[in-house]
Amino acid sequence: MGLFSGRKTVFVDSDVLVIGGGMAGCGATYESRYWGRDKKVVVVEKANIERSGAVAQGLYAINCYMGMQWDENQPEDHVRYARNDLMGLVREDLGYDIARHVDATVHMFEEWGLPIMKDPKTGRYLREGKWQIMIHGESFKPIVAEAARKAATKVYNRIMVTHLLMDKKKANRVAGAVGFNVRTGEFYVFRAKAVIVAAGGASHIFKPRSIGEGMGRTWYAPWSSASAYALPILVGAKMTQMENRIVLTRFKDGYGPVGAYFLHLKTYTENCYGKEYESTWYESLKELVGEYVDHQPVPTCLRNHAFLEEVKAGRGPIRMVTKEAFKDPHLETIGWENFLGMTIGQAVVWASQNIDPKYTNPELTTSEPYVMGSHATCSGAWASGPEDYAPDEYQWGYNRMMTIDGLFGAGDTIGGTAHKFSSGSFAEGRIAGKAAVKYIDDLGKDTPEISEAEYEGLKQVVFQPLENYSVGRNEIVAGTVSPSYLLPLHGLQRLEKIMDEYVGGISAHYMTNEPLLTRGLELLDMLKEDLEHLGAEDLHQLQRAWELQHRVLTSESVTHHTMFRTETRWPGYYYRGDHMKLDDTDWHCFTLSRFDRESGEWEMEKAPVYHIVD
Ligand SMILES: Cc1cc2nc3c(=O)[nH]c(=O)nc-3n(C[C@H](O)[C@H](O)[C@H](O)COP(=O)(O)OP(=O)(O)OC[C@H]3O[C@@H](n4cnc5c(N)ncnc54)[C@H](O)[C@@H]3O)c2cc1C
Repeated sequence: MGLFSGRKTVFVDSDVLVIGGGMAGCGATYESRYWGRDKKVVVVEKANIERSGAVAQGLYAINCYMGMQWDENQPEDHVRYARNDLMGLVREDLGYDIARHVDATVHMFEEWGLPIMKDPKTGRYLREGKWQIMIHGESFKPIVAEAARKAATKVYNRIMVTHLLMDKKKANRVAGAVGFNVRTGEFYVFRAKAVIVAAGGASHIFKPRSIGEGMGRTWYAPWSSASAYALPILVGAKMTQMENRIVLTRFKDGYGPVGAYFLHLKTYTENCYGKEYESTWYESLKELVGEYVDHQPVPTCLRNHAFLEEVKAGRGPIRMVTKEAFKDPHLETIGWENFLGMTIGQAVVWASQNIDPKYTNPELTTSEPYVMGSHATCSGAWASGPEDYAPDEYQWGYNRMMTIDGLFGAGDTIGGTAHKFSSGSFAEGRIAGKAAVKYIDDLGKDTPEISEAEYEGLKQVVFQPLENYSVGRNEIVAGTVSPSYLLPLHGLQRLEKIMDEYVGGISAHYMTNEPLLTRGLELLDMLKEDLEHLGAEDLHQLQRAWELQHRVLTSESVTHHTMFRTETRWPGYYYRGDHMKLDDTDWHCFTLSRFDRESGEWEMEKAPVYHIVD
C-alpha cells in the first residue's frame, strides 16, 4: 500500500461520457442531449469548459462554412479542397459528412449570440476566403460552452482523465474512464455506456521555437497534451495518419495567424531582398511531387517548402509585406483586430520589438510540428463512417466509433478529416453524440461493467508520481534535482529534444530518415522506462506528469507512422531524406497502427483511400 491509498474515490454514473469540453466535446454534449432526452450526459474537462481548449482565447474567423443557403459552396467542393490540400489523402466519407452538417451548426452559433460579420452590400456572412467567415469571436468559447452546460446532466471541470476503462465482460468494449481532480486530488471513476473522446490535439511533443521563459507560447494551445490520442491508443484503438504532423507559417515569435492577412488584407511575402521566391523552387519541387505542384490552391505544405528552401539558401528572413495594405485605415484596423480577437500576444510582441506593420514588414517563420486532426492535417483515430455514404471497408459500426466498441471521437481526435476547424469539430461532435445515443439504445440490457481490480490498480499508478516525489525529495542535495525521480518538465524537454532531432523537428529542418527514426525509438523507449520514476511535487505537477505520459505515447505513434510511410508525401511538413519523392504507386493510402499494451508492440498496416467525390 502506498502513501496515498487513503485518497477518496468518487464514482460517477453516465450513459454518455464526453472527455474534453472543447469545441467537439460541447457539440457532442449538445447533440447527445437532443437525441437522448432521458440519458445521463456527463462532461469531464481538465480545465473549465468556459474557456478551455484551442478556442479559449477566441477566434476571428470560422474557417469551415459552406454557405449552402446562398449556393456559395457544396459539401463536395469542400471534400475536393481538403483532398487537394492533403496531397490526395483524406477520408472523403467523413469530410463530406461534416461539410453537409456544418452550416446548420454555424447558424446555431449565431442564434446563441455569436456576432458574425455581414457584407453590407449582400447581407450575407462576410467572407475572409472561400471557406472562412469573419466573426467577433473573443467570446466564442463561452457562448458554445453555455449550450453544453445547459445540455449536460453534469459538467465535471478540473478533472484530468488519465485512462479509459474496459468492460470486464467483453474484451473490445469501453466501460468508462478514470482521472483525478487537479484541485482536490480526489480520484474519479466514471462508469459509462458510451465514451466520446474530444480531448484536442498535441503541442509540445516537438521542441518549440520558443523556449525558456517563452516556452508557454506555442501555436497550437500549450495545454493540448495528446490525451485525445494516448487514451484510445492505450486500449488498442487503431490510429491513422499519425505521421501527418503540421507545420505553420506564422508571424515570428508570437505565432500570430496569417490567414486574414493573406486573404482579406491581400498582403504577400518576399525574401530579405524584397524578391518573390516561390517560383524559384517550382522545378525542383516538381521533381519531388510531380503534378501536385500545379494544383490550385497550392497545398499548404508545398508553400512551406518554398519558404524553407529560400531560407536554407541564405535569403531569409521571409517577410510579410504589410506596408502597402496598412496605408488603408480600414485594413489597418482589421490587421490589429484580427490579433485582438485571437492572438493578443502577437500585438504585444510587435510592440515590444518596435514593429509597426505600417512602417516595417514583419518577419515570418515556420513553427515546430504539431499533431492534430482538425486543422490542415488529419492525424487521429480510425473511425467508422456514415451509414449512407461510407464505403463498406470504412464501416464496422456506428458513425465516428473507433475500432473499440462504444468508443467514439470527434474534432482533433478523429483522423483522416482535415479542415474541420472550430465549426466542423463542433459539427463532428454532434455527429458522434447522435451515434453514441443510438449505440446505447441498441445495447439494451447488455451494458458494460467496470472491474474493481482495474480501477484500483490504476488509482495506484495515477498517484505514484506524488509518492515518488515524497520519497525522492529526501535525497535532494540542491535545488529540485534528485537522483530518484524525473520531474515532468525535465521529461518534457527530453521528449522534445528526441522528437526534434530524430523525428523531423525545427533543428533538423524537418528532415528525418530510417536510421534517425530507429534511434529515436530507442531513445523514446529509454524515456518510457524512466517515466515510472516521474516525481510530482503537487497536484499541478501530477497533471503535468500525466500530460507527459500522453505526449510520450503519442510521440511513439508518430515515430512509428513516420517510419512506416517510406516516401515524402508532404514536403514542407517533414521529409524522409532516404525517400525524398512522393510515391503514389505504393503510398496513395492511409497508414494505420495498433498498439498492444501487453507486448508493447506496434502493428502497422495500410488502408485504401477511396475517392468518392469526382
Ligand atoms: C491558434 C489557433 C488558431 C485557430 N484558428 C482558427 C480559426 O481562425 N477558425 C477556426 O474555425 N478554427 C481555428 N482553430 C481550430 C480550432 O480551434 C480547432 O479546430 C478546435 O478547437 C478543435 O476542437 P477539439 O474539441 O477537437 O479540441 P479543443 O477545442 O482544443 O478541446 C479539447 C478539450 O479537451 C480538454 N482536455 C484535453 N485533455 C484532457 C484530459 N486528459 N482530460 C480532460 N479534458 C481534457 C481540453 O482542456 C479542451 O477543453 C485554431 C486553433 C488554434 C490553436
